[in-house]
Order: sequence, then structure tokens, then C-alpha cells
Amino acid sequence: MKKLLLIGAGHAHLYIMRKLKEEKGEHDVTIISPSEYQYYSGMFSGYLEGLYNKEDMRIHIPTLAKAAGIHFTEGAALSIDAKAKVVLTEKGDILSYDVLSVDIGSLTAGIDVPGARKHALRIKPNYRIEEVARAMQEAKNPVVVGGGAAGVEMALSLSARRKLEDKKPVSIISHSPLLENASAKAQEEIKQIIQDKNLPLYLKEKVANVTSSHIITSTGSQIAYDEVLWLTGPKAPGLFQTSQLPVDQEGYLLVEDTLQVKEYPAIFAAGDCASIRQYPGLPKAGVVAVRQSEILWENIKGFMKEANGRRFQPKNTYLSILSTGQKKGLLIYGRIVLHHPLSWKLKNRIDQKFMNTYKVNG
Ligand SMILES: Cc1cc2nc3c(=O)[nH]c(=O)nc-3n(C[C@H](O)[C@H](O)[C@H](O)COP(=O)(O)OP(=O)(O)OC[C@H]3O[C@@H](n4cnc5c(N)ncnc54)[C@H](O)[C@@H]3O)c2cc1C
Repeated sequence: MKKLLLIGAGHAHLYIMRKLKEEKGEHDVTIISPSEYQYYSGMFSGYLEGLYNKEDMRIHIPTLAKAAGIHFTEGAALSIDAKAKVVLTEKGDILSYDVLSVDIGSLTAGIDVPGARKHALRIKPNYRIEEVARAMQEAKNPVVVGGGAAGVEMALSLSARRKLEDKKPVSIISHSPLLENASAKAQEEIKQIIQDKNLPLYLKEKVANVTSSHIITSTGSQIAYDEVLWLTGPKAPGLFQTSQLPVDQEGYLLVEDTLQVKEYPAIFAAGDCASIRQYPGLPKAGVVAVRQSEILWENIKGFMKEANGRRFQPKNTYLSILSTGQKKGLLIYGRIVLHHPLSWKLKNRIDQKFMNTYKVNG
């Protein structure tokens, strides 16, 4: 029987575990993950606001693995030897495979600014969310660096909770416009929401240095803080370069639209960590990983049977809904921009449905 090794319990690998549970075929599968829990980022904002508890947003991987009849190994992959078909973990384990699939997400960009690595909080890998949430909730003077969807959503949700507790709102620092990749209408709307809620906003300010008490920007502003959360977009994990695998310019594992590495077809990848040669500009978002899941699993099974693979075709537009606090959401879909409680309701329904798929009953 061929051995399938799954590195990381990202969205596409959760799907594979669910399918293994449903299909009940004969497989020899192992999943390796640095934490027993996989945390669902779609619910991070609601968790920070206090709308969800930790069990709502996390999946216990050993339980899911047991139900799927696969082995779970706690640890992180350190390097891949594609020729020998083995993976070395940071605990020193050596795991062999016939087919390998990688879904390890991404890390945080821009953390090389002096002082940032030492003083800033980071969510990724995503099992850090609980300690990050605690620190940001308890802070007297919390700051978020980053004006993208994640930064804005986290700052707004946290501020909604802090308002109820009579605490200061969260400040946002961003050197680029808020939601830089969204339409002008969405950018204006989010700026207005942030201003209406009195979140201190530092735009066109690039962080130059982080001391133990201040964030110093390139224009000379000194912003006092006691906790700073760094959310400046995704960065490639180092695993692929360490392993001398083919990568794109940013270090993401280069795969074909079959989600396979051309030079090593026994290696598959999905989600943030992969860059598809035919579609280099795909957003690093959970929705993309979810859409890749089915093709990843079909192609892995096909590869084991030496069948031809299916090709991934991204959508032109992805739905994005940011929670803006107090159960209101900003829905962005192409040119549609809707700030309304119904947007939050839809987001909540999508997120709950995703999580319910992975609840294992006995
Ligand atoms: C605050 C925040 C909010 C977000 N909200 C949304 C949203 O609402 N909608 C959306 O589409 N996207 C959202 N995103 C982006 C989204 O989180 C990522 O795009 C998505 O999680 C990527 O999924 P993935 O399957 O690639 O990996 P992940 O979900 O990141 O999972 C990867 C897993 O691999 C593990 N891992 C890492 N390194 C190793 C290793 N070396 N060995 C083994 N395992 C490893 C990690 O611990 C993790 O469990 C948000 C991001 C942030 C930071």
C-alpha cells in the first residue's frame, strides 16, 4: 500500500481527512502538525470580540485523524528530501512517503523591521491566536500594524469588545491605503467605519523601528504602545528553500495547476504555501485553499492509481466579509460593497457551516 504523508493541517488537509473518514478506503496516511489544534482564521475576529469561544474556532486534529483512520504525529517538518522521499521533523523524526502533500500556510511578512521580531505579537502559525487575543484584550494601549483585511478586521473587532469594557480602541498603522487590493468604494467605506468608531489611524506611515514602548515610523512619529500585533500580510515558509525545492520569487512552493511540483510529481501542495505557475497572483486566503481541496484529493488519489490529474481553475472574484464589530460586516464581492448586519449573518453562517463539517461525534 502506498504511503501518503500530509504536512500541516491547513484547509485542504482537513478536507482530505474528512473524505478519508467518509470514503473508508484502504490507505496508509500520516498527518504531521506542530499543534494538536487547527484554528480557523475566519473566526479569529469573532473570538477577539468575544462572540465565539475557543472550541467554536478550533478543530482537534488527533480526534479527526482517528475518525479518518490515519496516524497523527505532533511536530513540524524541517526539511524535505524529494529524491529520497523522506521528511525530517524538528524533533528529529524521519518520515518516509510515496506521496507527499504540503498545506502549511504562510508566515508573517515585514517582521525584519528592527525591534519587531522581539516586541511584536504574531498570529501565524495560527495556534498562537489564543495568547495573542489575551494579550491584545488586556493591553492598555494596543496597536495593529497592517491595513489589510486581517489588520482592519482584528482592530475593529477588538475595539468593539474594548468599548463595552470602557477601554481605549485599537490604533492602526498602515503605510499603504486600507484594503489596498479592494475597490475604491470598499476602501472609502472601511476608512469611514474606522473613523466613525474613533480608532486612531496612522496612514502612509511605515514602521521603521519598534522599541519596548514606542513604534517609530519613517516620518518620525512616535506611537506609544504596550502590545503591538503585526499583520502585514503573508510571507513564504522557509521549508521549501531549505529543501531546495522549486519556488517562486517569494519562496512559495511552485506547483502546476494540478497542484503538483513539476520536477517531483509525488509532491503536492495547496493553500497559502503554494504558488500555482499558471496563476501567480492568487490571493493568499482561506477561501482559495478551500477551493483547491477537492482537486488536491482527487489528484492525489489519481496519482496513486497513475491516472491523469484534474486542473485547478481559480474564480475571478472571491467573496470577502470583514467583521466590523457588534455583529455588522463589510461584504466585498467585486464591485458590491455592503456594510450591514446581514453581511455579518452571512459570514457567521459560512463560518459555522465550515466548522460543523469537522465536528466529530464519537
Ligand atoms: C487574522 C486573520 C484573519 C483572516 N481571515 C480570513 C478570512 O476571513 N477569510 C479568508 O479567506 N482568509 C482569511 N485569512 C487568511 C487565511 O488565514 C489563510 O489564507 C489561510 O489560513 C491559509 O490556509 P492554509 O490551508 O494554506 O493554511 P493554514 O490554515 O495557515 O494552516 C496551516 C497549518 O500548517 C501548520 N504548519 C505550519 N508550518 C508547519 C510545518 N513546518 N510542519 C507541519 N505543519 C506546519 C500550521 O500550524 C497550521 O496549522 C486570515 C488571516 C489572518 C491572519
